Amino acid sequence: MKPKTDPNSKLRTDMVKHQIEARGISDKRVINAMLNVPRHLFVPEDVKSEAYEDYPLPIGDGQTISQPYIVAIMTELARLKGDEIVLEIGTGSGYQAVILSLLCREVYTIEIVEDLAKSAGKRLKDLGYDNVHVKYGDGYLGWTEAQPFDVVIITCAPPYLPDSLVSQLKDGGRIIAPMGEEYETQTLTVFEKKDGKLIKYDHEPVRFVPMKGKIEDKK
Ligand code: SAH
Repeated sequence: MKPKTDPNSKLRTDMVKHQIEARGISDKRVINAMLNVPRHLFVPEDVKSEAYEDYPLPIGDGQTISQPYIVAIMTELARLKGDEIVLEIGTGSGYQAVILSLLCREVYTIEIVEDLAKSAGKRLKDLGYDNVHVKYGDGYLGWTEAQPFDVVIITCAPPYLPDSLVSQLKDGGRIIAPMGEEYETQTLTVFEKKDGKLIKYDHEPVRFVPMKGKIEDKK
């Protein structure tokens, strides 16, 4: 008898080939992670059939799981080698956190919508991704107990970088964030911390939901 092939595995292979490698992602570890994580288990039932399509999908509470390519490029820009401690702001479904978790030591991820934080926490536990730690709260403040971080990934768009996130980043570390208040002019940006100073590199235009919470009071 032929072993049953998982139809989702074929969808993942196609996703990686046409959406990710075709757009220039070449880090083999990132590609392997994208091939292995069952993205269809991170989206609501009614959009499951679209889990491997080339666009973001709604995950409830007006929020979205990012397009696969965006997850891949943000992960590639993090340049993870395997031993890093990573902070993510905006857990959402938990998918980006899991991709990161396969490439580093620990992922700490914060979500401001309580229902999303709870369901992502449960999903990660059920799937056995036990180096991902989810917290319900405002990412503006970072995660004091778990700092310092090698990498901070922000998956909602802040108008500026909160100081706490910069101070919780190790020297030599990187922040990857979609910067910008206006939906139309957000730019995926990399910041490198060198001798306490941030060096900024603009990458490419992106569209993320806005960062909420305290950051809105201080714009
Ligand atoms: N990384 C997610 C997608 C994130 S969508 C995934 O892989 O599915 C952006 C998320 O950021 C939303 O869930 C939103 O609720 C959350 N968010 C917005 N502002 C936040 C804040 N201040 N702190 C933490 N999370 C925030």
